[in-house]
Amino acid sequence: MTLNRMTLDAKIALPQDLAERLATLPRPWVMTNGVFDVLHRGHVSYLHRAAELVASEGGSLIVAVNTDPSARGLGKGPDRPLNTELDRAYVLAGLESVALVTFFDTHTPVELIQAIRPDIYVKGGDYDMETLEETRVVRRWGGQSIALPFVDGFSTTALVKRIRQPVFKAVSPPLRKAAFLDRDGVINQDKAYVHRWEDFVFMPGAVEGMRRLQEAGYALVIVTNQSGLARGLYTEAEYQTLTQRLLSELEQQGVKVEGVYHCPHHPKGSVPELALACDCRKPAPGLILQAVAALGLDVANSILVGDKPSDIEAARAAGVGKAYRVDSDNPESRTEWGGEVVPTGHFANLLACATELTAARPTDPLASEPSNPPA
Ligand SMILES: [Zn+2]
Repeated sequence: MTLNRMTLDAKIALPQDLAERLATLPRPWVMTNGVFDVLHRGHVSYLHRAAELVASEGGSLIVAVNTDPSARGLGKGPDRPLNTELDRAYVLAGLESVALVTFFDTHTPVELIQAIRPDIYVKGGDYDMETLEETRVVRRWGGQSIALPFVDGFSTTALVKRIRQPVFKAVSPPLRKAAFLDRDGVINQDKAYVHRWEDFVFMPGAVEGMRRLQEAGYALVIVTNQSGLARGLYTEAEYQTLTQRLLSELEQQGVKVEGVYHCPHHPKGSVPELALACDCRKPAPGLILQAVAALGLDVANSILVGDKPSDIEAARAAGVGKAYRVDSDNPESRTEWGGEVVPTGHFANLLACATELTAARPTDPLASEPSNPPA
């Protein structure tokens, strides 16, 4: 195809150029007006149908757009029009159906109709044309006035509203539930300050328990107090080496841990920079809260499994929905717990806990929480 030599600029007539442009415009003329703020299919169809009224006779469609002050006066909102009068005129001028675009600055285009004297005046919508001033004016020179209904389902106002709707709910992935796992006493035997792989012994069934929780959709997150760091019993580098070894061993067995959070502090530590009261040492909730923020976790639908009252307390303080107690070699896990800390359930170990939580059960609204003290 070859583009018409008429440029976009030539299709836009400022008021002072209007008479000159009209002089070369083939008749008959059909004229319409509007804001045409964000052009949509409804507009394009409407303008096409308007142009068809005179197309067979080789006529021209003239579109008068509201100037910005005149558009604002229509009360479509303080921020409308979104596009300036010149921008709107350029978009209209790009349409094949449109022969000329001009402007009007008044509430109605009556004055402009009188100046242009179109053969047909067209208005978009279900108007009773008989009642309009525009109709009386155009009939003075034998012109017609016609209403063309808009195609349903298109409106700039609805479009703008849709664009501005917040999309957070649509695009944000749902928060994941997590299984927060204490390390020493839950994943491995608590042999006091474990810091070498040679001393790291998995609790019976721990890996299988983690796998079941993972398969049930829990993000696995380890939260562990490591006061041995504050006490100078091992270094951060040794701790990290052990952690990496643990993660790679688990990964080889199909278990992916999403995060490991540790507290290196203790108020009575011997390493000066770590000897402090912090907000991450359980029973404080800091480790869990760090994980929730970093990993995007649904804390209320998450669980924690620990072997000490401090684990359960940390879970409660962080808002974790359910906190389960398991037994370990640590004396703290074996002693009678105070009345303050009540776990959601009590199991022999992580595997027993995971098995119960992930077992397929018929829905029973009266079913109580699992609470199976070990034999
Ligand atoms: Zn800490």
